[in-house]
Amino acid sequence: MKAAVAKQKGEPLVLEERPLPEPGEGAVRIKVHACGICHSDQFVVEGIWPSLKLPRVPGHEVAGVVDAVGLGVRHIQPGARVGVGWYGGHCGVCRACREGDFVLCENGPVTGISFDGGYEEYMLAPASALAMIPESLDFAEAAPLLCAGITTFNSLRNSGARAGDVVAVHGLGGLGHLGVQFARAMGFYVVAIARGSEKANLAKKLGAHQYLDATQGDMIKGLQKLGGASVILSTAVSGQAASELVNGLGRNGCLVVLGASPDPITIRSGLLIGGRRRIQGWPSGQASDSEDTLRFAQLHGIRPQIETFPLAEVQAAYQHMMQGKARFRAVLKVI
Ligand SMILES: [Zn+2]
Ligand SMILES: [Zn+2]
Repeated sequence: MKAAVAKQKGEPLVLEERPLPEPGEGAVRIKVHACGICHSDQFVVEGIWPSLKLPRVPGHEVAGVVDAVGLGVRHIQPGARVGVGWYGGHCGVCRACREGDFVLCENGPVTGISFDGGYEEYMLAPASALAMIPESLDFAEAAPLLCAGITTFNSLRNSGARAGDVVAVHGLGGLGHLGVQFARAMGFYVVAIARGSEKANLAKKLGAHQYLDATQGDMIKGLQKLGGASVILSTAVSGQAASELVNGLGRNGCLVVLGASPDPITIRSGLLIGGRRRIQGWPSGQASDSEDTLRFAQLHGIRPQIETFPLAEVQAAYQHMMQGKARFRAVLKVI
């Protein structure tokens, strides 16, 4: 089989032939049909994830079909349509696991970081990490829902915002373009924020009630005119932008940080105290959350807009994403 491998820090991915892996106890082998390319894949390609050991096959937006099952796997059979996201299983014994908080497992393996991910034709995954993909969802469209999708869907539904509340989505990339669609279907008044007036049409098409151009300097005023947002999803990779957004929150509003940025977020403490405002991060979710995401997307006709690449063009596809050119998710069509 073919696999795209990160061999050395910061070097281009290497396409190599590998023997078909055999699933061990509790694991399955997946024939990978599609794998989304996420900004977090740079943790592998650049070799900057703390516990990472190279060589490693990146990819944590995996959609495919179970091809073989290991010992002890009873709840899933070959032929099942499955997906794997960032969540790659949990240990079951740490404090977080004993409290049922599996996604924050202290020893939790991460797909495409702790074990080889979806930039390959066949991958192994723990059976507990699998989400079932509905028949009606195309693999290439399901893949981005397993990281970009679940992260926006799951953070929104746990944000405390109620139907009719003002919810702003900052950034219209891989995460943001799904966030706007989810927010609309959840019944919020949706404000999309991005850079440039040309994105207004796209924002409306995705379901935003209103578009604010961040380059015009009226982004915060626009939100304040609405009484401030209950929730702002910050999907852009910029600490500075996230810092500014806090000014657009209403009383008890929450800035939900999804975009991992290298620069810090700085906030005036009075702004938080005065309006009882909060800042919260949100990691994707566990396998059942992925299934909820896929089902909700199916129910409301929510789909990612994707550009597909064959596995042989993996390096070009990765660079396309890193340069911010993907409209809006680059997806490898693996098999
Ligand atoms: Zn991701
Ligand atoms: Zn654990």
